[in-house]
Amino acid sequence: MSTVDFPVPVKVASGCSDAPVLRERGQHEVFCGLTGIIWLHRKIQDAFFLVVGSRTCAHLIQSAAGVMIFAEPRFATAIIDERDLAGLADANAELDRVVTQLLARRPEIKLLFLVGSCPSEVIKLDLSRAASRLSAQHSPAVRVLNYSGSGIETTFTQGEDACLASMVPGLPAATADRQQELLVVGTLADVVEDQFIRLFHEMGIERVRFFPPRRASDQAPVGPNTRMLLAQPFLADTARALQARGAVLLAAPFPLGVEGTTAWLQSAATAFGVSDQQFAAAVSAPTARARAALARAKIHLDGKSIFFFPDSQLEIPLARFLSRELGMRLIEVGTPYLHRQHMAQELALLPAGTALSEGQHVENQLDRCRAARPDMVVCGLGLANPLEAEGMTTKWAIELVFTPIQGFDQAGDLAELFTRPLVRRLRLAA
Ligand code: SF4
Repeated sequence: MSTVDFPVPVKVASGCSDAPVLRERGQHEVFCGLTGIIWLHRKIQDAFFLVVGSRTCAHLIQSAAGVMIFAEPRFATAIIDERDLAGLADANAELDRVVTQLLARRPEIKLLFLVGSCPSEVIKLDLSRAASRLSAQHSPAVRVLNYSGSGIETTFTQGEDACLASMVPGLPAATADRQQELLVVGTLADVVEDQFIRLFHEMGIERVRFFPPRRASDQAPVGPNTRMLLAQPFLADTARALQARGAVLLAAPFPLGVEGTTAWLQSAATAFGVSDQQFAAAVSAPTARARAALARAKIHLDGKSIFFFPDSQLEIPLARFLSRELGMRLIEVGTPYLHRQHMAQELALLPAGTALSEGQHVENQLDRCRAARPDMVVCGLGLANPLEAEGMTTKWAIELVFTPIQGFDQAGDLAELFTRPLVRRLRLAA
């Protein structure tokens, strides 16, 4: 039986813990928070997302999520038209009518999110009051919540943060005498969630809940005995709301790659008093499988340079994984926001001297990228095509959010997401 040979990086003051960060404020090129609906509507299977927005908003989510022909989608847009914008119609009365119609037609909906957008913010439509009014009208059959996915000064993964934060006040309170329970926070693909449940059970941690849940009614109680493990790095507001309810955040890097996944699980193991032997027994086989998969990918990635534009907030954990487990050289790691507390473990593991940037001034960053000519660029869709045309190899940041990449069994797939574009370009050049 092999043992875990990665150190658990708790309070390691090294790497990039205290590294300077280039802060940029300028034009940024990212999707808005509505994008989160694409993965959230798949996760919470009895929820519905009603965007209160414009035709542009409708077009964005429909084209990004793909048009479903055989299944009725669990998202839609209530279009704010010229009459609403001109104040000629009562937008609240219109919204009530649309919601009543929708709920009558779709009785399977148990949780309805009213999702704010740039247009609803511009006309100052108070969606929180609308949600309370509609909740009172349609409860107990349906709860109505609201959050903003507006693109004004937000990045696309913040939509999930806003959505989950809106659910926290509705979670039941866990009594102080309740046994310690683990709450994994952040949307994970069902297949990844199932793998983690198996691993936690093998470690002897039986009381595990996931947030968001697959069904709206599966509400995890929260209180001082809740131990919270973040599965995604973009959940600052959600974590804060859960901590305010008494949940204790477990310090850990994010579960990307063998190292991140091991340390993430180890953090829970320590909090729940799992013995070293039981931990090693649970993780040794999947660790070995993941290492073998990574060794195959490393042949293509070792020594290659990579440049991250700020987009998903996954950049720092990805950079840590690519540099430490696959030998890639980090030219610049950009992130839309740097949450020092949530990123402490990750920063400690980044190679010392890594260039970090927060926020975006897209022109300046493009200049730096062009000057460095990295082997690969991770960026949004809007930048990928022009950079490809300039001969650079790109990876769409959004693909990394849509694809199951967390955990041991996905480590090889995650590495392959980076090898594929490089191999394709080599073939084209041959
Ligand atoms: S919310 Fe704003 S940025 Fe997003 S699609 Fe609608 S108008 Fe565009």
